[in-house]
Amino acid sequence: MVPGGAPKHTPTPGYAGRGAQPQAVASARPVSPEVWNVHDANDEMPLHPETMAIIAGRPPHEPDQPMSVPVHLTSTYVAGGHVEYGRYGNPSWTAFEETLGALEGGHCVSFASGMAAIAAVFDLVEPGGTIVAPRHSYTGTVAALAEREEHGRAKAVFVDITDTAAVAEACADAAMVWFETPTNPALEVADIAAIVRAAHAHGAIVAVDNTFATPLLQRPLELGADVVVHSATKYISGHSDVLMGAAITASDELAAALVQRRSLYGAIPAPFEAFLALRGLRTLPVRLERAQATAQELVRRLDGHPALEEVRYPGFGAIVSIVVRGGAEGADALVGRTRLWVHATSLGGVESTFERRRRWPLEQPTIPEGLVRLSVGLEHVDDLHRDLVGALDSIA
Ligand code: PLP
Repeated sequence: MVPGGAPKHTPTPGYAGRGAQPQAVASARPVSPEVWNVHDANDEMPLHPETMAIIAGRPPHEPDQPMSVPVHLTSTYVAGGHVEYGRYGNPSWTAFEETLGALEGGHCVSFASGMAAIAAVFDLVEPGGTIVAPRHSYTGTVAALAEREEHGRAKAVFVDITDTAAVAEACADAAMVWFETPTNPALEVADIAAIVRAAHAHGAIVAVDNTFATPLLQRPLELGADVVVHSATKYISGHSDVLMGAAITASDELAAALVQRRSLYGAIPAPFEAFLALRGLRTLPVRLERAQATAQELVRRLDGHPALEEVRYPGFGAIVSIVVRGGAEGADALVGRTRLWVHATSLGGVESTFERRRRWPLEQPTIPEGLVRLSVGLEHVDDLHRDLVGALDSIA
């Protein structure tokens, strides 16, 4: 299942030693309080995720140490240490990885984008192996799976991820069960623990794309999943100015295999992007709390609007999908009628955005033509509501 020859894990040195990370496993770290934050962890005082988001991945509290790990712009390192080259490690990645790893509960391996992380996770499956995935997922992921199938590199089986019995049945021949929950953009929710049980009974790896929920709302590794994936481009970075991805696992073996893929194929994050992503991650708890509260209030206020067939919301998070009456034409009419809501793809930024998902030719035909995905940002709920309802009233 896992490619051989993965580098062995070596214990993590403190910040002063970060220039001397073991080659190609700089970020594959055990998650224990000593490593989450070598300086501040205290077994007797369990820390909340809000606190971990602030304290993890910092230099030690010693005179003249910087408060934040700086952007390390270097392509190479003085020979004789453990990093050697910029494709194998960078302290700016490491600081980000320590923090996201602490929040998800595993070794974090950062990548150039969410798709780069997803590709590395799919690569854990031996050629020809079966990957079970939701029929409704991010279009890029479905396209990546379809491309693998077309070239005989994998077999893809698409399922309704809310139908746990059907997923369990599909697991029989699977090497991996991969899913988003909630799904993009249908917002279906999967039973992670039940799917993990079914997949593991057949020896399949479980990988969960946690982009929509974030580790603040859902920690799949705690429910038994083997790997968690993020498009860190979204909530983790949170400001629509970074593309980055991450895969997190509690398994040393899987972490080493992922680092090996990244080191060999070079889908590495840039140091400045890693710095920005960590800067964003520090405020994820407050951003998400506010965005979620606004989303919940908007769902309440939008319910029954005459321009809408449906308001979909899984009960948590800050993504809402509305189905506009009149199909594609009805939904497209929203474009240009809002002042605050920006018509743009992507999600999870401080700015509220919307888009009709079927405008993408790769979007599944089972997604309604009139479905508009709303990414609720941090503007005031009354302003967002007035702006959106004004647009909806004008097309009702
Ligand atoms: N996973 C989900 C749920 C997404 O929505 C996206 C992008 O929209 C991705 C993965 C891909 O991430 P990236 O664009 O960072 O490659």
